[in-house]
Amino acid sequence: MTALDDNLKKAEAWLERFRRDGVLNQIGGEAMPAADGTTFETVSPIDLKPIAKVAHGKAEDIDRAAKAAKTAFRDWAAMPGAERKKLLHRIADAIVARAEEIAFVECMDTGQALKFMAKAALRGAENFRFFADRAPEARDGRALHGPGQINITTRVPIGPVGIITPWNTPFMLSTWKIAPALAAGCTVVHKPAEFSPLTARLLVEIAEAAGLPPGVWNLVNGLGEDAGKALTEHPDIKAIGFVGESRTGSLIMAQGAATLKRVHFELGGKNPVIVFADADLERAADAAVFMIYSLNGERCTSSSRLLVEASIHDEFCARVAEKAKRIRIGHPLDPETVVGPLIHPVHHKKVLSYLELGRSEGATIAAGGGKADGPGGGCYVQPTLFTGVKNTMRIAREEIFGPVLTAIPFKDEAEALALANDTDYGLTGYLWTADVTRALRFTDGLEAGMIWVNSENVRHLPTPFGGVKSSGMGRDGGDWSFDFYMETKNIAFATAPHAIPKLGG
Ligand code: NAD
Repeated sequence: MTALDDNLKKAEAWLERFRRDGVLNQIGGEAMPAADGTTFETVSPIDLKPIAKVAHGKAEDIDRAAKAAKTAFRDWAAMPGAERKKLLHRIADAIVARAEEIAFVECMDTGQALKFMAKAALRGAENFRFFADRAPEARDGRALHGPGQINITTRVPIGPVGIITPWNTPFMLSTWKIAPALAAGCTVVHKPAEFSPLTARLLVEIAEAAGLPPGVWNLVNGLGEDAGKALTEHPDIKAIGFVGESRTGSLIMAQGAATLKRVHFELGGKNPVIVFADADLERAADAAVFMIYSLNGERCTSSSRLLVEASIHDEFCARVAEKAKRIRIGHPLDPETVVGPLIHPVHHKKVLSYLELGRSEGATIAAGGGKADGPGGGCYVQPTLFTGVKNTMRIAREEIFGPVLTAIPFKDEAEALALANDTDYGLTGYLWTADVTRALRFTDGLEAGMIWVNSENVRHLPTPFGGVKSSGMGRDGGDWSFDFYMETKNIAFATAPHAIPKLGG
Protein backbone atom coordinates (compact mmCIF):
# COMPACT_ATOMS: atom_id res chain seq x y z
CA MET A 1 0.00 0.00 0.00
CA THR A 2 1.42 3.41 -0.95
CA ALA A 3 1.39 6.42 1.37
CA LEU A 4 -1.39 7.89 -0.79
CA ASP A 5 -3.56 4.75 -0.50
CA ASP A 6 -3.05 4.79 3.21
CA ASN A 7 -3.94 8.48 3.44
CA LEU A 8 -7.03 8.04 1.25
CA LYS A 9 -8.30 5.33 3.55
CA LYS A 10 -7.86 7.57 6.58
CA ALA A 11 -9.51 10.52 4.80
CA GLU A 12 -12.51 8.38 3.82
CA ALA A 13 -12.99 7.37 7.45
CA TRP A 14 -13.00 11.02 8.49
CA LEU A 15 -15.31 12.08 5.66
CA GLU A 16 -17.82 9.32 6.33
CA ARG A 17 -19.72 11.32 8.95
CA PHE A 18 -20.07 14.28 6.54
CA ARG A 19 -21.26 11.99 3.76
CA ARG A 20 -23.84 10.49 6.13
CA ASP A 21 -25.03 13.48 8.19
CA GLY A 22 -24.12 16.41 5.96
CA VAL A 23 -22.63 19.64 7.30
CA LEU A 24 -24.95 21.23 9.86
CA ASN A 25 -25.08 24.74 11.27
CA GLN A 26 -24.29 25.28 14.95
CA ILE A 27 -26.50 27.78 16.75
CA GLY A 28 -26.73 28.30 20.50
CA GLY A 29 -24.75 25.12 21.09
CA GLU A 30 -26.98 22.95 18.89
CA ALA A 31 -26.30 21.32 15.56
CA MET A 32 -29.15 21.99 13.16
CA PRO A 33 -30.10 22.06 9.49
CA ALA A 34 -31.08 25.30 7.77
CA ALA A 35 -34.40 26.69 8.99
CA ASP A 36 -35.99 26.04 5.58
CA GLY A 37 -34.41 22.57 5.34
CA THR A 38 -32.50 23.31 2.12
CA THR A 39 -28.93 22.20 1.39
CA PHE A 40 -26.19 22.75 -1.19
CA GLU A 41 -23.38 20.38 -2.11
CA THR A 42 -19.68 20.69 -1.47
CA VAL A 43 -17.67 19.05 -4.23
CA SER A 44 -14.12 17.71 -4.05
CA PRO A 45 -11.88 19.47 -6.59
CA ILE A 46 -9.93 16.21 -6.97
CA ASP A 47 -12.63 14.33 -8.89
CA LEU A 48 -15.57 16.77 -8.87
CA LYS A 49 -17.67 14.31 -6.90
CA PRO A 50 -19.93 15.62 -4.12
CA ILE A 51 -18.58 15.10 -0.60
CA ALA A 52 -21.53 16.23 1.47
CA LYS A 53 -24.75 18.17 1.61
CA VAL A 54 -24.36 21.44 3.49
CA ALA A 55 -27.05 23.35 5.41
CA HIS A 56 -28.05 26.26 3.17
CA GLY A 57 -28.50 28.95 5.81
CA LYS A 58 -30.24 32.22 4.97
CA ALA A 59 -31.46 35.34 6.77
CA GLU A 60 -33.59 33.39 9.25
CA ASP A 61 -30.63 31.22 10.34
CA ILE A 62 -28.40 34.28 10.64
CA ASP A 63 -31.05 35.95 12.79
CA ARG A 64 -31.17 32.95 15.14
CA ALA A 65 -27.38 32.80 15.31
CA ALA A 66 -27.05 36.56 15.95
CA LYS A 67 -29.63 36.32 18.76
CA ALA A 68 -27.76 33.36 20.29
CA ALA A 69 -24.50 35.34 20.09
CA LYS A 70 -26.22 38.33 21.71
CA THR A 71 -27.60 36.20 24.56
CA ALA A 72 -24.21 34.59 25.19
CA PHE A 73 -22.34 37.91 25.04
CA ARG A 74 -23.00 39.16 28.59
CA ASP A 75 -21.48 36.22 30.40
CA TRP A 76 -18.67 35.69 27.92
CA ALA A 77 -17.62 39.34 28.03
CA ALA A 78 -17.77 39.30 31.84
CA MET A 79 -15.64 36.15 32.18
CA PRO A 80 -12.20 37.06 33.57
CA GLY A 81 -9.54 37.09 30.86
CA ALA A 82 -7.53 34.50 32.77
CA GLU A 83 -10.41 32.03 32.42
CA ARG A 84 -10.87 32.78 28.75
CA LYS A 85 -7.15 32.17 28.39
CA LYS A 86 -7.45 28.66 29.87
CA LEU A 87 -10.39 27.81 27.65
CA LEU A 88 -8.72 29.02 24.47
CA HIS A 89 -5.62 26.96 25.32
CA ARG A 90 -7.89 23.93 25.72
CA ILE A 91 -9.24 24.61 22.20
CA ALA A 92 -5.65 24.79 20.92
CA ASP A 93 -4.83 21.47 22.61
CA ALA A 94 -7.87 19.87 20.99
CA ILE A 95 -6.89 21.22 17.55
CA VAL A 96 -3.43 19.69 17.95
CA ALA A 97 -4.98 16.38 19.01
CA ARG A 98 -7.06 16.34 15.81
CA ALA A 99 -4.51 17.99 13.50
CA GLU A 100 -4.28 15.04 11.13
CA GLU A 101 -8.04 14.75 10.73
CA ILE A 102 -8.32 18.51 10.11
CA ALA A 103 -5.51 18.44 7.54
CA PHE A 104 -6.92 15.46 5.63
CA VAL A 105 -10.45 16.85 5.53
CA GLU A 106 -9.11 20.24 4.39
CA CYS A 107 -7.10 18.61 1.58
CA MET A 108 -10.13 16.70 0.29
CA ASP A 109 -12.41 19.75 0.47
CA THR A 110 -10.00 22.36 -0.97
CA GLY A 111 -7.41 20.48 -3.07
CA GLN A 112 -4.55 21.97 -1.02
CA ALA A 113 -1.53 19.70 -0.65
CA LEU A 114 -0.98 17.85 2.62
CA LYS A 115 2.61 19.10 2.60
CA PHE A 116 1.26 22.54 3.55
CA MET A 117 -2.06 21.68 5.22
CA ALA A 118 -0.45 19.50 7.90
CA LYS A 119 1.16 22.67 9.20
CA ALA A 120 -1.99 24.77 8.75
CA ALA A 121 -3.81 22.92 11.53
CA LEU A 122 -0.89 23.47 13.91
CA ARG A 123 -0.70 27.11 12.90
CA GLY A 124 -4.43 27.33 13.71
CA ALA A 125 -3.66 26.06 17.20
CA GLU A 126 -0.86 28.63 17.50
CA ASN A 127 -3.34 31.38 16.66
CA PHE A 128 -5.47 30.30 19.62
CA ARG A 129 -2.48 30.12 21.96
CA PHE A 130 -1.17 33.51 20.89
CA PHE A 131 -4.43 35.33 21.57
CA ALA A 132 -5.22 33.20 24.64
CA ASP A 133 -2.06 34.49 26.30
CA ARG A 134 -3.10 38.07 25.63
CA ALA A 135 -6.70 37.69 26.86
CA PRO A 136 -5.94 38.65 30.49
CA GLU A 137 -4.52 42.04 29.41
CA ALA A 138 -6.99 42.77 26.61
CA ARG A 139 -9.02 45.22 28.71
CA ASP A 140 -6.00 47.15 29.99
CA GLY A 141 -5.60 50.77 28.97
CA ARG A 142 -3.63 53.86 29.87
CA ALA A 143 -3.66 56.54 32.53
CA LEU A 144 -3.48 60.09 31.10
CA HIS A 145 -2.96 63.05 33.37
CA GLY A 146 -4.49 66.41 32.46
CA PRO A 147 -4.80 69.65 34.44
CA GLY A 148 -7.05 68.75 37.40
CA GLN A 149 -7.84 65.39 35.84
CA ILE A 150 -6.78 61.80 35.69
CA ASN A 151 -8.10 59.89 32.67
CA ILE A 152 -8.26 56.17 32.61
CA THR A 153 -8.78 54.36 29.36
CA THR A 154 -10.13 50.86 29.24
CA ARG A 155 -11.26 48.55 26.50
CA VAL A 156 -14.51 46.62 26.34
CA PRO A 157 -15.47 43.95 23.80
CA ILE A 158 -17.56 45.50 21.02
CA GLY A 159 -20.32 42.85 21.10
CA PRO A 160 -21.32 39.92 18.90
CA VAL A 161 -19.28 39.99 15.68
CA GLY A 162 -19.60 38.38 12.25
CA ILE A 163 -16.65 36.57 10.71
CA ILE A 164 -16.77 35.83 6.98
CA THR A 165 -13.96 33.70 5.54
CA PRO A 166 -12.80 32.56 2.07
CA TRP A 167 -12.00 29.09 0.71
CA ASN A 168 -8.20 29.20 0.52
CA THR A 169 -6.73 27.68 3.71
CA PRO A 170 -10.16 28.03 5.37
CA PHE A 171 -9.21 26.36 8.66
CA MET A 172 -6.17 28.50 9.38
CA LEU A 173 -7.94 31.72 8.33
CA SER A 174 -10.98 30.98 10.49
CA THR A 175 -8.77 30.54 13.57
CA TRP A 176 -6.87 33.71 12.68
CA LYS A 177 -10.07 35.75 12.78
CA ILE A 178 -12.07 33.94 15.47
CA ALA A 179 -9.38 33.42 18.15
CA PRO A 180 -8.78 37.16 18.79
CA ALA A 181 -12.52 37.89 18.78
CA LEU A 182 -13.08 35.29 21.51
CA ALA A 183 -10.00 36.38 23.45
CA ALA A 184 -11.29 39.96 23.40
CA GLY A 185 -14.62 38.83 24.89
CA CYS A 186 -16.76 38.99 21.74
CA THR A 187 -19.17 36.29 20.67
CA VAL A 188 -19.11 35.13 17.06
CA VAL A 189 -21.29 34.20 14.11
CA HIS A 190 -19.07 32.56 11.49
CA LYS A 191 -20.08 32.28 7.83
CA PRO A 192 -17.46 30.14 6.07
CA ALA A 193 -16.98 29.99 2.29
CA GLU A 194 -19.47 27.81 0.45
CA PHE A 195 -16.71 26.05 -1.53
CA SER A 196 -14.98 24.69 1.62
CA PRO A 197 -17.32 24.28 4.60
CA LEU A 198 -15.99 21.09 6.24
CA THR A 199 -13.25 22.21 8.61
CA ALA A 200 -15.31 25.14 9.94
CA ARG A 201 -17.72 22.51 11.23
CA LEU A 202 -14.87 20.57 12.86
CA LEU A 203 -13.58 23.74 14.44
CA VAL A 204 -16.79 24.78 16.20
CA GLU A 205 -17.30 21.21 17.44
CA ILE A 206 -13.76 21.14 18.80
CA ALA A 207 -14.31 24.46 20.58
CA GLU A 208 -17.55 23.38 22.23
CA ALA A 209 -16.15 19.99 23.23
CA ALA A 210 -13.28 21.90 24.87
CA GLY A 211 -15.83 23.74 27.01
CA LEU A 212 -16.78 26.88 25.07
CA PRO A 213 -20.27 27.87 26.31
CA PRO A 214 -23.21 27.52 23.90
CA GLY A 215 -23.88 30.54 21.71
CA VAL A 216 -20.40 32.03 22.09
CA TRP A 217 -19.48 30.67 18.67
CA ASN A 218 -22.18 30.05 16.08
CA LEU A 219 -21.75 28.68 12.60
CA VAL A 220 -24.06 29.40 9.68
CA ASN A 221 -23.25 27.91 6.29
CA GLY A 222 -24.68 29.50 3.19
CA LEU A 223 -23.96 31.61 0.16
CA GLY A 224 -22.44 35.07 0.27
CA GLU A 225 -25.41 36.80 -1.28
CA ASP A 226 -27.91 35.51 1.28
CA ALA A 227 -26.35 34.27 4.57
CA GLY A 228 -23.26 36.49 4.17
CA LYS A 229 -25.29 39.55 3.27
CA ALA A 230 -27.78 38.98 6.12
CA LEU A 231 -24.90 38.76 8.59
CA THR A 232 -23.44 42.08 7.46
CA GLU A 233 -26.87 43.72 7.77
CA HIS A 234 -27.91 42.30 11.12
CA PRO A 235 -28.42 45.01 13.79
CA ASP A 236 -27.14 42.81 16.66
CA ILE A 237 -23.82 42.22 14.91
CA LYS A 238 -21.49 45.07 15.80
CA ALA A 239 -18.52 44.39 13.51
CA ILE A 240 -17.56 42.28 10.52
CA GLY A 241 -14.13 40.69 10.15
CA PHE A 242 -13.92 39.75 6.49
CA VAL A 243 -11.32 37.93 4.40
CA GLY A 244 -12.02 37.65 0.69
CA GLU A 245 -12.07 39.48 -2.61
CA SER A 246 -11.78 43.24 -2.87
CA ARG A 247 -15.11 43.62 -4.69
CA THR A 248 -16.87 41.63 -1.94
CA GLY A 249 -15.31 44.02 0.58
CA SER A 250 -16.97 46.94 -1.24
CA LEU A 251 -20.33 45.15 -1.16
CA ILE A 252 -19.98 44.46 2.56
CA MET A 253 -19.13 48.08 3.27
CA ALA A 254 -22.33 49.16 1.51
CA GLN A 255 -24.42 46.42 3.14
CA GLY A 256 -23.16 47.33 6.60
CA ALA A 257 -23.68 51.08 6.19
CA ALA A 258 -27.27 51.18 7.48
CA THR A 259 -26.24 49.61 10.81
CA LEU A 260 -22.91 51.51 10.94
CA LYS A 261 -20.94 48.29 11.03
CA ARG A 262 -17.29 48.42 11.99
CA VAL A 263 -15.44 46.56 9.25
CA HIS A 264 -12.04 44.95 8.92
CA PHE A 265 -11.02 43.78 5.45
CA GLU A 266 -8.25 41.43 4.36
CA LEU A 267 -8.65 41.46 0.59
CA GLY A 268 -6.88 40.55 -2.63
CA GLY A 269 -3.32 41.13 -3.78
CA LYS A 270 -1.09 41.37 -6.83
CA ASN A 271 2.11 41.37 -4.89
CA PRO A 272 5.50 42.21 -6.40
CA VAL A 273 8.73 40.34 -5.75
CA ILE A 274 11.53 42.69 -6.78
CA VAL A 275 14.90 41.15 -7.53
CA PHE A 276 18.01 43.32 -7.95
CA ALA A 277 21.17 41.96 -9.59
CA ASP A 278 23.12 42.13 -6.31
CA ALA A 279 20.74 39.72 -4.54
CA ASP A 280 21.45 36.11 -3.64
CA LEU A 281 19.75 34.86 -6.80
CA GLU A 282 19.32 31.23 -5.81
CA ARG A 283 17.60 32.17 -2.56
CA ALA A 284 15.50 34.78 -4.36
CA ALA A 285 14.42 32.22 -6.98
CA ASP A 286 13.50 29.66 -4.32
CA ALA A 287 11.48 32.26 -2.42
CA ALA A 288 9.71 33.52 -5.54
CA VAL A 289 8.81 29.96 -6.55
CA PHE A 290 7.62 29.14 -3.05
CA MET A 291 5.48 32.27 -2.78
CA ILE A 292 3.61 31.72 -6.06
CA TYR A 293 3.34 27.94 -6.38
CA SER A 294 2.79 26.81 -2.78
CA LEU A 295 -0.87 26.59 -1.69
CA ASN A 296 -1.71 26.18 -5.41
CA GLY A 297 -1.08 29.90 -5.83
CA GLU A 298 -4.39 30.44 -4.02
CA ARG A 299 -2.79 32.75 -1.54
CA CYS A 300 -3.52 36.43 -0.91
CA THR A 301 0.16 37.11 -0.13
CA SER A 302 1.49 35.24 -3.18
CA SER A 303 4.29 36.97 -5.09
CA SER A 304 2.43 37.02 -8.39
CA ARG A 305 4.44 39.78 -10.14
CA LEU A 306 8.13 39.09 -10.59
CA LEU A 307 10.08 42.30 -11.28
CA VAL A 308 13.68 41.55 -12.23
CA GLU A 309 16.62 43.86 -12.98
CA ALA A 310 17.19 43.72 -16.72
CA SER A 311 20.84 42.60 -16.50
CA ILE A 312 19.84 39.31 -14.83
CA HIS A 313 16.28 38.99 -16.12
CA ASP A 314 16.76 36.19 -18.66
CA GLU A 315 19.00 34.10 -16.45
CA PHE A 316 16.76 34.56 -13.41
CA CYS A 317 13.58 33.72 -15.31
CA ALA A 318 15.23 30.60 -16.75
CA ARG A 319 16.06 29.52 -13.19
CA VAL A 320 12.47 30.09 -12.02
CA ALA A 321 11.07 28.31 -15.11
CA GLU A 322 13.25 25.25 -14.46
CA LYS A 323 12.06 25.04 -10.87
CA ALA A 324 8.42 25.55 -11.92
CA LYS A 325 8.66 22.72 -14.46
CA ARG A 326 10.00 20.35 -11.80
CA ILE A 327 7.17 21.03 -9.32
CA ARG A 328 5.23 17.89 -8.55
CA ILE A 329 1.51 18.10 -9.38
CA GLY A 330 -0.61 15.42 -7.80
CA HIS A 331 -3.23 14.21 -5.40
CA PRO A 332 -3.39 16.51 -2.35
CA LEU A 333 -2.98 13.56 0.01
CA ASP A 334 0.18 12.32 -1.69
CA PRO A 335 2.95 13.49 0.66
CA GLU A 336 5.15 14.36 -2.35
CA THR A 337 2.57 16.65 -3.97
CA VAL A 338 3.32 20.37 -4.10
CA VAL A 339 0.49 21.58 -6.34
CA GLY A 340 -2.96 19.99 -6.11
CA PRO A 341 -6.21 20.82 -7.91
CA LEU A 342 -7.69 24.31 -7.63
CA ILE A 343 -10.67 24.74 -5.35
CA HIS A 344 -13.62 24.43 -7.77
CA PRO A 345 -14.45 24.11 -11.49
CA VAL A 346 -15.61 27.75 -11.52
CA HIS A 347 -12.21 28.94 -10.26
CA HIS A 348 -10.37 26.44 -12.48
CA LYS A 349 -12.10 27.93 -15.52
CA LYS A 350 -11.18 31.44 -14.39
CA VAL A 351 -7.48 30.61 -13.95
CA LEU A 352 -7.33 28.78 -17.30
CA SER A 353 -8.97 31.80 -18.95
CA TYR A 354 -6.07 33.95 -17.74
CA LEU A 355 -3.61 31.54 -19.38
CA GLU A 356 -5.44 32.10 -22.67
CA LEU A 357 -5.60 35.82 -22.01
CA GLY A 358 -1.84 35.99 -21.39
CA ARG A 359 -1.20 34.37 -24.75
CA SER A 360 -3.58 36.72 -26.53
CA GLU A 361 -2.02 39.75 -24.80
CA GLY A 362 1.33 38.71 -26.30
CA ALA A 363 3.15 37.29 -23.27
CA THR A 364 5.46 34.30 -23.65
CA ILE A 365 4.96 31.06 -21.76
CA ALA A 366 8.26 30.09 -20.13
CA ALA A 367 6.78 27.26 -18.06
CA GLY A 368 3.41 25.49 -17.83
CA GLY A 369 0.61 27.34 -19.56
CA GLY A 370 -2.30 24.95 -19.39
CA LYS A 371 -4.42 22.36 -17.70
CA ALA A 372 -2.56 19.55 -15.99
CA ASP A 373 -3.46 15.89 -15.77
CA GLY A 374 -3.85 14.81 -12.21
CA PRO A 375 -5.38 11.92 -10.31
CA GLY A 376 -9.19 12.08 -10.36
CA GLY A 377 -9.13 14.36 -13.43
CA GLY A 378 -10.11 17.43 -11.36
CA CYS A 379 -9.16 21.11 -11.40
CA TYR A 380 -5.40 20.81 -12.02
CA VAL A 381 -3.31 23.62 -13.58
CA GLN A 382 0.38 23.61 -14.49
CA PRO A 383 2.61 25.98 -12.52
CA THR A 384 3.01 28.74 -15.09
CA LEU A 385 5.53 31.49 -15.75
CA PHE A 386 4.80 34.25 -18.27
CA THR A 387 7.73 36.31 -19.52
CA GLY A 388 7.65 39.28 -21.91
CA VAL A 389 4.90 40.77 -19.77
CA LYS A 390 4.01 44.45 -19.61
CA ASN A 391 2.53 45.89 -16.45
CA THR A 392 -0.41 47.17 -18.50
CA MET A 393 -1.50 43.64 -19.44
CA ARG A 394 -4.48 42.26 -17.55
CA ILE A 395 -2.44 39.21 -16.44
CA ALA A 396 -0.15 41.65 -14.60
CA ARG A 397 -2.97 43.74 -13.12
CA GLU A 398 -5.73 41.34 -12.04
CA GLU A 399 -5.55 38.84 -9.20
CA ILE A 400 -5.49 35.40 -10.87
CA PHE A 401 -5.30 33.48 -7.57
CA GLY A 402 -3.64 30.45 -9.11
CA PRO A 403 -0.09 29.17 -9.78
CA VAL A 404 0.63 31.84 -12.37
CA LEU A 405 3.60 34.21 -12.25
CA THR A 406 4.24 37.16 -14.59
CA ALA A 407 7.82 38.41 -15.07
CA ILE A 408 8.66 42.00 -16.02
CA PRO A 409 12.19 43.46 -16.42
CA PHE A 410 13.21 46.84 -14.94
CA LYS A 411 16.24 48.98 -15.79
CA ASP A 412 16.81 50.80 -12.49
CA GLU A 413 15.51 51.32 -8.98
CA ALA A 414 13.15 54.15 -9.96
CA GLU A 415 11.49 52.01 -12.62
CA ALA A 416 11.27 49.05 -10.24
CA LEU A 417 9.45 51.16 -7.65
CA ALA A 418 7.12 52.68 -10.24
CA LEU A 419 6.21 49.21 -11.56
CA ALA A 420 5.79 47.77 -8.09
CA ASN A 421 3.40 50.58 -7.09
CA ASP A 422 1.51 50.66 -10.39
CA THR A 423 -1.28 48.40 -9.15
CA ASP A 424 -4.64 48.74 -7.42
CA TYR A 425 -3.44 46.41 -4.68
CA GLY A 426 -1.00 46.79 -1.78
CA LEU A 427 -0.92 43.73 0.43
CA THR A 428 2.69 42.49 0.44
CA GLY A 429 6.01 43.12 -1.29
CA TYR A 430 9.18 41.02 -1.35
CA LEU A 431 12.49 42.77 -1.97
CA TRP A 432 15.76 41.04 -2.84
CA THR A 433 18.94 43.11 -2.67
CA ALA A 434 22.26 43.08 -0.79
CA ASP A 435 22.28 46.89 -0.53
CA VAL A 436 20.82 47.85 2.85
CA THR A 437 20.52 51.54 2.03
CA ARG A 438 18.57 50.74 -1.08
CA ALA A 439 16.40 48.34 0.92
CA LEU A 440 15.53 51.09 3.40
CA ARG A 441 14.82 53.60 0.64
CA PHE A 442 12.84 51.15 -1.49
CA THR A 443 10.67 49.77 1.29
CA ASP A 444 9.92 53.33 2.40
CA GLY A 445 8.46 54.05 -1.03
CA LEU A 446 6.75 50.72 -1.64
CA GLU A 447 2.96 50.84 -1.21
CA ALA A 448 2.21 47.67 0.74
CA GLY A 449 1.02 46.77 4.21
CA MET A 450 3.70 44.11 4.71
CA ILE A 451 7.16 43.86 3.15
CA TRP A 452 9.79 41.18 3.51
CA VAL A 453 13.42 41.92 2.61
CA ASN A 454 15.50 38.94 1.49
CA SER A 455 12.81 36.58 2.68
CA GLU A 456 9.62 34.86 1.69
CA ASN A 457 6.51 35.47 3.82
CA VAL A 458 7.46 34.34 7.32
CA ARG A 459 4.75 35.37 9.76
CA HIS A 460 5.56 36.57 13.23
CA LEU A 461 2.21 36.73 15.02
CA PRO A 462 2.83 39.91 17.08
CA THR A 463 3.43 41.95 13.88
CA PRO A 464 0.63 43.76 12.05
CA PHE A 465 -1.00 41.91 9.16
CA GLY A 466 -3.02 43.77 6.53
CA GLY A 467 -2.98 45.66 3.27
CA VAL A 468 -3.29 49.14 1.76
CA LYS A 469 -5.20 50.35 -1.33
CA SER A 470 -7.63 47.65 -2.57
CA SER A 471 -5.95 45.01 -0.41
CA GLY A 472 -7.66 45.89 2.79
CA MET A 473 -8.43 48.01 5.75
CA GLY A 474 -7.27 47.54 9.31
CA ARG A 475 -4.61 45.31 10.84
CA ASP A 476 -4.64 41.96 12.57
CA GLY A 477 -1.99 40.48 14.80
CA GLY A 478 -0.64 41.53 18.18
CA ASP A 479 -2.74 44.15 19.87
CA TRP A 480 -4.12 45.39 16.55
CA SER A 481 -6.70 42.59 16.56
CA PHE A 482 -7.98 43.71 19.97
CA ASP A 483 -8.30 47.28 18.75
CA PHE A 484 -10.77 46.02 16.17
CA TYR A 485 -12.79 43.72 18.41
CA MET A 486 -12.93 46.18 21.33
CA GLU A 487 -14.16 49.70 22.05
CA THR A 488 -11.83 52.08 23.86
CA LYS A 489 -13.52 53.98 26.64
CA ASN A 490 -12.17 56.99 28.52
CA ILE A 491 -13.14 57.84 32.11
CA ALA A 492 -12.09 61.26 33.45
CA PHE A 493 -11.77 61.82 37.22
CA ALA A 494 -11.59 65.34 38.58
CA THR A 495 -8.66 65.65 40.99
CA ALA A 496 -9.35 69.22 42.15
CA PRO A 497 -12.42 71.35 42.83
CA HIS A 498 -12.12 73.18 39.52
CA ALA A 499 -14.45 76.04 38.65
CA ILE A 500 -17.64 74.81 36.99
CA PRO A 501 -19.43 77.40 34.83
CA LYS A 502 -22.58 78.47 36.61
CA LEU A 503 -25.49 78.87 34.24
CA GLY A 504 -28.84 80.02 35.49
CA GLY A 505 -27.62 81.24 38.87
P1 NAD B 1 -15.06 35.97 -1.87
O1 NAD B 1 -14.99 37.42 -1.60
O2 NAD B 1 -15.77 35.51 -3.09
O3 NAD B 1 -15.77 35.20 -0.67
C1 NAD B 1 -15.31 35.31 0.66
C2 NAD B 1 -16.47 35.11 1.60
O4 NAD B 1 -17.39 36.19 1.43
C3 NAD B 1 -17.27 33.83 1.37
O5 NAD B 1 -17.62 33.27 2.61
C4 NAD B 1 -18.49 34.33 0.63
O6 NAD B 1 -19.62 33.51 0.79
C5 NAD B 1 -18.70 35.68 1.28
N1 NAD B 1 -19.48 36.65 0.49
C6 NAD B 1 -19.59 36.74 -0.85
N2 NAD B 1 -20.42 37.76 -1.17
C7 NAD B 1 -20.83 38.32 -0.01
C8 NAD B 1 -21.70 39.40 0.30
N3 NAD B 1 -22.30 40.13 -0.63
N4 NAD B 1 -21.89 39.71 1.61
C9 NAD B 1 -21.28 39.01 2.58
N5 NAD B 1 -20.48 37.95 2.34
C10 NAD B 1 -20.25 37.61 1.05
O7 NAD B 1 -13.56 35.44 -1.82
P2 NAD B 1 -13.04 33.96 -2.14
O8 NAD B 1 -13.11 33.76 -3.62
O9 NAD B 1 -13.73 33.00 -1.23
O10 NAD B 1 -11.52 34.06 -1.65
C11 NAD B 1 -10.47 34.49 -2.43
C12 NAD B 1 -10.14 35.95 -2.15
O11 NAD B 1 -9.79 36.12 -0.79
C13 NAD B 1 -8.93 36.44 -2.93
O12 NAD B 1 -9.19 37.71 -3.45
C14 NAD B 1 -7.83 36.51 -1.88
O13 NAD B 1 -6.77 37.39 -2.15
C15 NAD B 1 -8.60 36.91 -0.68
N6 NAD B 1 -7.86 36.59 0.53
C16 NAD B 1 -7.26 37.62 1.24
C17 NAD B 1 -6.51 37.35 2.38
C18 NAD B 1 -5.84 38.47 3.14
O14 NAD B 1 -5.42 38.23 4.27
N7 NAD B 1 -5.70 39.65 2.59
C19 NAD B 1 -6.36 36.04 2.81
C20 NAD B 1 -6.97 35.01 2.08
C21 NAD B 1 -7.73 35.31 0.94
